[in-house]
Amino acid sequence: MSESKIDTRLWSSKARNLSPYVPGEQPQHDDLCKLNTNENPFPPSPKVGEAITKVLAQQADDLRLYPAPESEELRGALAALYDLDMNQVFVGNGSDEVLALVFASFFLKERPILAPDISYSFYPVYANTFGIELVQIPLEADFSISPDAYRRPCSGIVIANPNAPTGLLLSLADIRKLAGEHSNSVIVIDEAYIDFAQYEEGSADSQVSAVSLINEFDNLLVTQTFSKSRSLAGLRVGMAFGSASLIEALTRMKNSFNSYPLDKLAQAGAMASILDVAYFEQARQQVIDLRTSLTAELTALGYDVLPSHANFVFARPHDGAASQVANVLREQGIIVRHFDKPRINEYLRITIGTPAQHERLINALKALQAVADVEVS
Ligand SMILES: *Cc1c(COP(=O)(O)O)cnc(C)c1O
Repeated sequence: MSESKIDTRLWSSKARNLSPYVPGEQPQHDDLCKLNTNENPFPPSPKVGEAITKVLAQQADDLRLYPAPESEELRGALAALYDLDMNQVFVGNGSDEVLALVFASFFLKERPILAPDISYSFYPVYANTFGIELVQIPLEADFSISPDAYRRPCSGIVIANPNAPTGLLLSLADIRKLAGEHSNSVIVIDEAYIDFAQYEEGSADSQVSAVSLINEFDNLLVTQTFSKSRSLAGLRVGMAFGSASLIEALTRMKNSFNSYPLDKLAQAGAMASILDVAYFEQARQQVIDLRTSLTAELTALGYDVLPSHANFVFARPHDGAASQVANVLREQGIIVRHFDKPRINEYLRITIGTPAQHERLINALKALQAVADVEVS
């Protein structure tokens, strides 16, 4: 529909002033190599489909009835996974919805919230939606996050860890520092990619997830999702972990908006995914191994690749001509993400794909470089 046909006269001023998030494109194309939205290239556990089929086959307890509004079974399984109490766990329709409820529950206050200037682009959208002032804190020169830069009055801090699109990981020591220094603010750590993170050998921490700090800090809230590491972006399941008080606020907000954010199929599928531990471990290791090999291949082609802890790499061609590279790849049906934004416009964000997809990508990049070499000589 063309924009000129839209009549906004009946809209509220709220609807008129929204600036919605634009997801990475989902083009329809037979032979597409889609490396632009950080979906998992591998299917979810087969147990997920079995569990969903079982719900559909049940006559007595079928889709005629409403689902469990508080998703007790799923929250119990998540609590067991992290050795928490069920009242420290919240679930929602994707972590995007959980994050929206987080903004509404904790950030509608006088003071601004803080987030890195280069991070998940949905944070400024939520801030705008709810009329919350968001102050962007610049990343350091090497794209890392320094807790010292956040030492200013705020009602909250939102940080993606690993960060997107850089893939860099903030240490638990730094998260401890943030939570400890801002005891009157809610610190939100968005761990959409945490299952792909690994500590370097010799690191002081034995874990990467801030869920391990929940019992230490009442003001720490950690969000995660089934969309990336569990290959279930289409099922829409996200969660938050925090003190019982923070979770109660989220539950109140949810029940003032939509009491049934997770349908029966999503609850059953998510449960099955959690219970299939062996599949999960094997699947995430596969993505981590492919990240290692893709990083090596891109480096060999002269790319500068940031050390990624996520299921994508952030890479700069040696001449910085990232947008041209993205265009040439697109002509061949290979879609990667380029952000036309200062400081990162010389980089490409490339989602980890299958070995065949990596081969196609690398061959295209080699061909591109061969052309460039001929033009130079
Ligand atoms: C993908 C992503 C999300 C959203 O995940 P959903 O659960 O699919 O809504 C949230 N935060 C970051 C940083 C992401 O990359």
